[in-house]
Amino acid sequence: MCGKKAEVFCLASAGFVEDDWRLDEFTHFSNVTALPDSLKVILKKQAPRYYLDYTRQRGSCYFMNHCRCGTKLADFYLHNNPEGAFYPVSEQQAKQLILCEMELSETVEIAATIVVNDIDLIEVNAKREQC
Ligand SMILES: [Zn+2]
Repeated sequence: MCGKKAEVFCLASAGFVEDDWRLDEFTHFSNVTALPDSLKVILKKQAPRYYLDYTRQRGSCYFMNHCRCGTKLADFYLHNNPEGAFYPVSEQQAKQLILCEMELSETVEIAATIVVNDIDLIEVNAKREQC
């Protein structure tokens, strides 16, 4: 690890449908294992250091953030660890995040772990930009 600050990325949406479960609430996703090509094309441009990579801990691949030096930045530390990039515990931390809004013409199917919080600091405080 080089110790430099790394820009990290995750996917979020205004809601989702899973089988009979529909939720119209801000959701973000970790451990993404499959994405449609249309999203991969966007990610390649917007988040070139977020790509499918192998993790020995899980013995499988998922879309993972990488530092400029190539170090893998596991989702667990970003999503499940309080004060991790996607687990802000204060408004101040959440304000460092940028929500890039994309208009998608169709429903997108992904394989991932769903993260929903009662009061999502990211949804309320992140800076919004049009992508
Ligand atoms: Zn590094």
